[in-house]
Amino acid sequence: MRVVVDLNRCQAYAQCCYAAPDRFVLRGDEILVYDPAPPASDRAAVDRAVQACPVRAIRVEHEDAPAERPA
Ligand code: SF4
Repeated sequence: MRVVVDLNRCQAYAQCCYAAPDRFVLRGDEILVYDPAPPASDRAAVDRAVQACPVRAIRVEHEDAPAERPA
């Protein structure tokens, strides 16, 4: 699983930190630190963080997602 947070979009609302506290931590008032490659066992928590972010700044890619095929 790969996690990318658009830090230009992130407004430090910390909702992801409540949803997945082992993977997202806010340092100080506005510096988000996160695990870009969390284990698959954290999938549910990371998905909750994605849903919780009010500005949709978190993107997650799962290895088991079907590969895109050219049309
Ligand atoms: S919930 Fe979204 S806006 Fe808030 S700290 Fe996390 S990534 Fe940033």
